[in-house]
Amino acid sequence: MKIPVVVIGAGACGLTAALAAKDAGQDVLVLERDASPSGSTALSSGFVPAAPTRFQRGDDSAEKMFLDVQRKNHGTADAGLAKAICQASGPTIEWLADAHGVPFQLVEGFLYPGHSVERMHSVAEKTGAALMFYLSKAASAKDVDVLTSAHVTHVDEKSLRLERPDGSEESVEYDALVLACSGFGGNAAMVREHIPEVASALYFGHAGNQGDAVRWGTKLGAAVRHMSGYQGHGSVATPQNILITWALMTEGGIQVNADGQRFSNEHLGYSEQCVPVLRQPGGIAWCIYDERLHQLGMTFPDYRDAQGAGAVRMNPSLPRLEETLEQVRRYASGRQDPFGRDFSKKPALVPPYYGIKVTGALFHTQGGLVVDAQARVLDTAGRAIPKLFAGGGAACGISGPHAWGYLSGNGLLTAIVLGRVAGASAAAVSSSG
Ligand SMILES: Cc1cc2nc3c(=O)[nH]c(=O)nc-3n(C[C@H](O)[C@H](O)[C@H](O)COP(=O)(O)OP(=O)(O)OC[C@H]3O[C@@H](n4cnc5c(N)ncnc54)[C@H](O)[C@@H]3O)c2cc1C
Repeated sequence: MKIPVVVIGAGACGLTAALAAKDAGQDVLVLERDASPSGSTALSSGFVPAAPTRFQRGDDSAEKMFLDVQRKNHGTADAGLAKAICQASGPTIEWLADAHGVPFQLVEGFLYPGHSVERMHSVAEKTGAALMFYLSKAASAKDVDVLTSAHVTHVDEKSLRLERPDGSEESVEYDALVLACSGFGGNAAMVREHIPEVASALYFGHAGNQGDAVRWGTKLGAAVRHMSGYQGHGSVATPQNILITWALMTEGGIQVNADGQRFSNEHLGYSEQCVPVLRQPGGIAWCIYDERLHQLGMTFPDYRDAQGAGAVRMNPSLPRLEETLEQVRRYASGRQDPFGRDFSKKPALVPPYYGIKVTGALFHTQGGLVVDAQARVLDTAGRAIPKLFAGGGAACGISGPHAWGYLSGNGLLTAIVLGRVAGASAAAVSSSG
């Protein structure tokens, strides 16, 4: 079997790449190991940053977005790639909405740490599962062939091999190949090797993300970068394992340990909060907030699930919590918070208090194959490897080599924008070949 454009992985990156290749008039086949496509995309909150878009209300630009991205990673990401991705973000969201019926809207009412403007876009359901539903629907409307239960086990310069659940194998030749099979968060040995600080953390992403893109790409001569970079999270309800929105923190909540004491500046970001939470006694913390923030939480499906599962507690009894809340009130009226958070901008917490016991988790790896702005995979000398493209978790992203470099939304941003670019580039190569 020979196919012009083959895409490995049917998450946000793979489906977007397939739509772009189809739009360019090429035949495309998507290969997905699972029986039904989900990936980390379906586990996510489905929030995609983009600027400017017609869905936004405030004044925003690709340049402002780029500055936010680079400020968060302290300039450690490839500035050229980050700029190209930000510039393509608005047109990509509008293309998915207008040409492929993904009903994006602006997420309003709060800002994630490091976002200077409201620029998160999601579908009305505010879930990654719903985003996957719309992307899959768009792919099927465009007659994209998605072969599920097709686990790719081997890739070389012109062909690949896949295994079916009954153990049978098939070979596929390609003119151009898009690696959209994400990162290596599900591969414990690779996480231990590259990101030892989260080796014992809960992995909250898709189990099928085994680092195959890095394995195949490096065999074909590709360079990898920022393998220690990752998206962590400091707020997964335990033992229920439900993501608790960081909006509770950005809008005024605090995190304390089991002794009721704060241990960090919660406004730096949720990704870098993973390790500090894991370092607390028992590897846990409590998110503490009030009725106003509970109502905000209730606008998020995950939070409602947490409420239903009994994770949300009223007036949690923690030894020094009262004292901590009193200190926080003083920080709001001028006293300097030793962790450096500015408490003056949001309303003070008022009783009754709510609490959720949480732990830190690894969501998604950010390092991977080095790509350029056309999503071409580059070798160690910076030359494009013929026929090979990558995006999303398979590629080195724009978060740099540390957890703190992850600006909220960098994951789906690189999946969707690089996915579109990779699909178009792959289509161009296959039609010229
Ligand atoms: C809980 C959670 C919440 C998140 N929330 C957000 C958010 O709101 N905004 C944001 O920007 N990011 C978020 N992220 C990160 C985001 O989910 C990822 O960055 C994004 O989904 C990556 O997309 P992808 O298409 O590269 O990978 P995936 O969606 O993981 O898709 C990869 C696919 O490749 C398949 N695959 C892997 N190996 C093979 C193989 N050998 N053969 C065939 N198929 C294979 C997998 O089965 C999978 O379906 C979140 C992550 C988590 C875990």
